[in-house]
Amino acid sequence: MRKIVILAFLLLGLVWTAVAQAAQVTDVKWGVDKNNVLRLVVDVTDTAGYAVQLDGNNLKLTVNAKAAGQAVGRKVIKSSLADHMRVVSAGSATEVHVPLKKTLKSSDYKAFVLKKDPQTGRPFRVVLDLTADKTIVPVKSGTTTAGTAAVSKSAVSAPVVSNRPVVGNRPVRSSTATKQTVTKTTPAVKTPAEPKVVKTVEKKKVEEQKQEVKTTTKKSKHKKKRRTEKYSQEQKASTEKSATTTEDGLTVIKATGKYRTNGGLEGKVITIDPGHGGSDPGAVGAKGTKEKDITLAISKQVQELLEKKGAKVHMTRTDDRDVYGPYASDRAELQARVNVAEKYNSDAFVSLHINSSVNKSIGGFSTYYYPKTNYDLQLAQAIQKQLADNFGVNNLGVRQANFYVTKRCSMPAVLVEMCFISNPDEETLMQGNWFKKKTARLIVEALEKYFD
Ligand SMILES: [Zn+2]
Repeated sequence: MRKIVILAFLLLGLVWTAVAQAAQVTDVKWGVDKNNVLRLVVDVTDTAGYAVQLDGNNLKLTVNAKAAGQAVGRKVIKSSLADHMRVVSAGSATEVHVPLKKTLKSSDYKAFVLKKDPQTGRPFRVVLDLTADKTIVPVKSGTTTAGTAAVSKSAVSAPVVSNRPVVGNRPVRSSTATKQTVTKTTPAVKTPAEPKVVKTVEKKKVEEQKQEVKTTTKKSKHKKKRRTEKYSQEQKASTEKSATTTEDGLTVIKATGKYRTNGGLEGKVITIDPGHGGSDPGAVGAKGTKEKDITLAISKQVQELLEKKGAKVHMTRTDDRDVYGPYASDRAELQARVNVAEKYNSDAFVSLHINSSVNKSIGGFSTYYYPKTNYDLQLAQAIQKQLADNFGVNNLGVRQANFYVTKRCSMPAVLVEMCFISNPDEETLMQGNWFKKKTARLIVEALEKYFD
């Protein structure tokens, strides 16, 4: 009897292991980017094949993996293409049904996969992009797109990949980043090849302009921002011609004017970049604090204080959103932030982040720069000194690193790591208004000293 029981347990164990190892769909997410592309992202615990079928106005994405209980159900979508999707368990496969509000052609959607990324903890993903208008590159296939991780060519050529580090910073990636190699975040300075600029794309610019007009109309409702917006339109007009597109479809804008480094804050153009946002929470603390929320709160206060002192501030984002679009590649997302600074001929770029470490006892401020101008270090020193002198936390000092934003911005740029979300004391600290207010004030004071 005992033998049978043991055998039964052994068998049960084997079956359980087999089930546990089979790929499972754990979540289906969606997002809409600024080009009105609706993106569905299916998280799968392991590599799985997929197929897309368009039957009238019903779009069906089938992923060859069992649906986990929490993934199944109806989800509301906010898009001009669909208002909901249904995730259905179909035996060993999972189906995502999207009833479309308008008729799509086969060239209006494309599917591809993103590899599992052990470094960021991101699972294997099947991505389906649906476009309401002709803003994305059409696929050459027929009405059915099928593939697996191994055969899907579009996974390599797709303009969008996602492998963001969960920790504070994103290192510079080479232009082959679409092949999903994650570089370490250690500050060792590597110099990847500059993205090859192939041509100026007129269409992109027009779209971007459209987008800009939209944003401006929306913002001009807020009287407070009117002056800045008017200015930015003028600036925009003067820099329009400097937008180029890289081989992998990235829009790169270059400032046409020379940055200024003295004469006070009055009239200076400063771009503030609240790190992360939207589909990318950044680092998350043990108490659930998200880096993207803290960076935005502090950035808004920095903006307010700078504007009071007469500076013209551009924010890469003013709410909880991705700057380029949901689930975009690091390069696309970070270049979009650089583009804001370049477009408005900024005099300085300040990216605000919260650090994170596996060692919970590590804490403190640090400021990163890349020595591409004579002023990057000066700006970093000014900010780091002001923070270190006025806070009772560790001074981790000024550090050189080749982070994408600090390296690619043509004007002096810094990335400030405002304490550690992984440190319980500092997480509590940053949840409070006092910390946010004081950090913002000190950063503004540092900028004032830098521009003096
Ligand atoms: Zn960060």
